[in-house]
Amino acid sequence: MLVEEFITILKNFPKKHIATMILGFMLLISVSILGSKDFSNEEKISELTKPLKLLTLTDNTQIKIPLLEKEKLIKRNDSLFTILKELGVLQEDIIKLVNSNNSNLLSKIEVGDKIKILISEKGELNQLFYQDNIREGIRADKKENGFIIKKYKSDIEKVKVFKHVVIEDSMYMSGLRENVPDSVLMDLAYINGWDIDFTHDIRPGDTYSIIYEEIIIDGEKVIDGDILISEFNNRGKQFIAVRFDLDANTSEYFNPNGENVKKAFLRSPVKLSYISSKYNLKRRHPVLHTIRAHKGVDYAANKGSPVRATGDGTILFAQYNGGCGNEIKIKHSEDYVTRYCHLDRFGTRAKVGRKVKQGQTIGYVGSTGLATGPHLHYEFHVNGKHTDPLKVKFPNASPVEEKQAIAYERKSQNLLNELNNYKYLIDRGEVYGG
Ligand SMILES: [Zn+2]
Repeated sequence: MLVEEFITILKNFPKKHIATMILGFMLLISVSILGSKDFSNEEKISELTKPLKLLTLTDNTQIKIPLLEKEKLIKRNDSLFTILKELGVLQEDIIKLVNSNNSNLLSKIEVGDKIKILISEKGELNQLFYQDNIREGIRADKKENGFIIKKYKSDIEKVKVFKHVVIEDSMYMSGLRENVPDSVLMDLAYINGWDIDFTHDIRPGDTYSIIYEEIIIDGEKVIDGDILISEFNNRGKQFIAVRFDLDANTSEYFNPNGENVKKAFLRSPVKLSYISSKYNLKRRHPVLHTIRAHKGVDYAANKGSPVRATGDGTILFAQYNGGCGNEIKIKHSEDYVTRYCHLDRFGTRAKVGRKVKQGQTIGYVGSTGLATGPHLHYEFHVNGKHTDPLKVKFPNASPVEEKQAIAYERKSQNLLNELNNYKYLIDRGEVYGG
C-alpha cells in the first residue's frame, strides 16, 4: 500500500523528473534517519518515517529506527500533560514523568517557552528539554523506573559576524538583501539615528560596515546579538559607533573620541505626531486671535498619545497651570529645562522631585488649557531663555568616564582594527562581506 502511494505520487510528475525525485526522496529519508529537527508537524514526520521500513526491507540492511525529535511552543492554557499528549507521548510515560523526583521543576512552564522531546515511534518518551531562558533549562532523562529531572545550563558561544553593505535604495532594504538580520538593522538605525535622518539623508552609494554578535546556544544558532561596531558613510561623512559596557547591565555606543553617539535630548517628545505649529515670535494666537509669540513647537497627535521626557532629568513642576493646562517641567541640568503643555493627564512618573529617563512616558497628549484640539506644546529653555527646539544643537549624552577612558580606548581601537581588516580583505576579494 505504501508502494502504491509512492507510485501515485510519482505519476503526477513528468517522467524525466522521476529519477531525480527518487534520488531526492532517498535523500529525504536519510535526512530523517539522521534525525531532522525542523518538522513542526507530526504528519510530515510519520510520512517520512513510513518509507524507511520499505527501505530496510528491500535493502536488507539493519537501520536502527531513530528517535524523533519534536517540539512545541507553550501557549495559554497548556499544561505539561496536554503538551506531551499532543506530541504523542504514551500516557504511562507522562505519568512516570510526573511521579519522578524533582518533577516540580516542570510544574511552572511559561507561555512562549519551548518543550522539546525525543520520542520513539511508539510514543515512548526518552528525553525532555524545557528551555527556561537563554542560559538555563530543565531536562528529564529516562531511566529504568522513571525519569531523572534536573536543571541544566546551556553552552553559550558568541561569534562575530561582519557585513559590508552598499546602499542602493534604503539602509534597511539594502541590508536585508545582504542578509543582515532585521533586529541588527533596527539597532543600526537607532545607533545612527541621532546623526542621520534615514528618511531624508540617505543616498545611493552610501555604505555601512558592521561587526555584530551571533549568540549560539548549545551549538544551534539562536539569537542575533548586539552590534559591536558600526561605521556609516553618509554623503561623504563618516560615523563610527563602538559598543562599550559601562557596567554589568548597561552598554552604550560612543564614537572613537569617547563621545556618546546619543544626544542628551530626543528630537521629538511625541512619536506619532506632526508639527502643527513651529517656533515663531510673531504668530497670531489661534484662540486669542492676537499677535502672541509662539515660543515652542506644537505636535499634533491623537488624544492620549504618550508624551516622552526628551532627556534625563528631574520633574520640576506637574500640575494644572492656566493656558498651558496640565503642565510638566523637567530640569535636565543647570542649563536645560523642557516644558510640556495641554496634557490630557499625567503619567505615573510625573511627580515633582522624581527622576525620569530619556524616552519615559510622563503624560498623555490632550487639549487642556487654551488649545483648539489635542496637541502637545513643547518648549526648550537654555539658561532660562526660550529656544527653538527644532534648531538648537543638542549636547551629546554623557561621554565615556575618565576612569574608563583607557579601557575604552583599547576596546575601540581593537574593534576598529578588526573592522578595517575585514574591509581590506573584502577589497582584495578574499572574503565575501555580504
Ligand atoms: Zn504651542
